[in-house]
Amino acid sequence: MVAAGGRADTIVLKNGKRIVALSVVEDGDKIRYETAAGELSLPKSIVDHIERGPVGVMPDSPAAEAANLAIAPPVFESDAEVEQATIHDGAIDRNYLSHVEGEARSGGAKANARAARALHAASQFELAHGDMEHALNDERSALNYVPDDPMILMNVAYLHLKRSEYKASMEYLERARRVAPDDPEVAKLEGWAYYGMVKLDQAVAEWKRALAIGPDPEVQAALAKAERDRREEQSYRENESTHFTLHYDGNSEPELAREILRALEMHFSAIESELNYTPPDSIGVVLYTQQAFADITRAPSWVGALNDGRIRVPVQGLTSLTPDLSRILKHELTHSFVQQKTHSLAPIWVHEGIAQWVEGQRSRDNAAVLVQVYNEKQALPLGEMEKSWMQLPASVASYAYAWALANVEYIVQTDGMSDVERILNAIAAGSTTEAAIQEVLHLNYDELEKETVNYLRKTYL
Ligand SMILES: [Zn+2]
Repeated sequence: MVAAGGRADTIVLKNGKRIVALSVVEDGDKIRYETAAGELSLPKSIVDHIERGPVGVMPDSPAAEAANLAIAPPVFESDAEVEQATIHDGAIDRNYLSHVEGEARSGGAKANARAARALHAASQFELAHGDMEHALNDERSALNYVPDDPMILMNVAYLHLKRSEYKASMEYLERARRVAPDDPEVAKLEGWAYYGMVKLDQAVAEWKRALAIGPDPEVQAALAKAERDRREEQSYRENESTHFTLHYDGNSEPELAREILRALEMHFSAIESELNYTPPDSIGVVLYTQQAFADITRAPSWVGALNDGRIRVPVQGLTSLTPDLSRILKHELTHSFVQQKTHSLAPIWVHEGIAQWVEGQRSRDNAAVLVQVYNEKQALPLGEMEKSWMQLPASVASYAYAWALANVEYIVQTDGMSDVERILNAIAAGSTTEAAIQEVLHLNYDELEKETVNYLRKTYL
């Protein structure tokens, strides 16, 4: 994964609208540019001028922008007594929480309501301190005591929205809507969920519905933004399938783009059952010409394709899907699964090991060299393979890929893919990778490396 750098320019349209973009180039009657949403183009006739900016960072993706919509959490009427008992001396009183939860388990409606309020107060405190994981856990626990409380349902949904988990938030909002069909807050948050999923028509409909019930400046502003985005989107060239949104260079073959989408959907089903996981959010794919890929990604030349949240694939000269391209797509798609499953917490060696395993690579050809390097005590420690490999020279990079694959292959061949799944779950829950490996395999990194070498020796030598 590489942080896309480069210069941010601003395209000023004749209607006054300004679009921040990377790598703006004129190309015939088109202005082409790069955004976090992929490569896009505009007809030159609607562009007034381009302002060249300083070296900057990638503009926020629509998903990131959606997570930062100026929408406040649903407001509760407060219960000062429970709040003060839950939060005091700048911390959450966990003893009090277990006490009220204990009472709720054996008590009636009132005890249940109190436990829910206390957990909600704890969740609010954690949210205010940026601890989204625990905020969500506590708010969800509150639901155990009041499963139909629309305010708690909406607060759980709100926390998912803040984590860009739009589909998950929708489940809770649908439940809230069944209990409180005319609550404008439900429509407001559903609009946000649709906006995050880039379903702009539904977002607009929900926000209009909220405004029909009562005025709300936050909704007004969000609606105006969604309507602007919707107008803009109509000028983009885009293909969509069930799980993917594809942007491509105007020079790519449209038939190739369709074949790529079909292949991606096929790989999606395969990886879904292999990793026992379905990424909730649509996956962006951008097809490039070779030169544009190198310019935009600034990746070293050994990188054939990459996945930095979107799958970026150079397809220069290709007119149809080749077996190699299909394999690369499966590899990059695996990264999207691992990334979404672990909330971007998985380290590089785990990513690359799994992606290579899933695309069908095995260690046979590299086993002898890996064993030899290990015996000479020159093996790269897994701990040092957790961070970006983008700085590595090509020769070291290919060794790192092979070593990562060998370790993952050992894990899969010994106890099956379910161990990999459990390791990913532990990483997603916040464990370090070594602790996750320890928990599932009862091995530390040194021991895993040793077992991997034993496996290579037994299997291939
Ligand atoms: Zn990879």
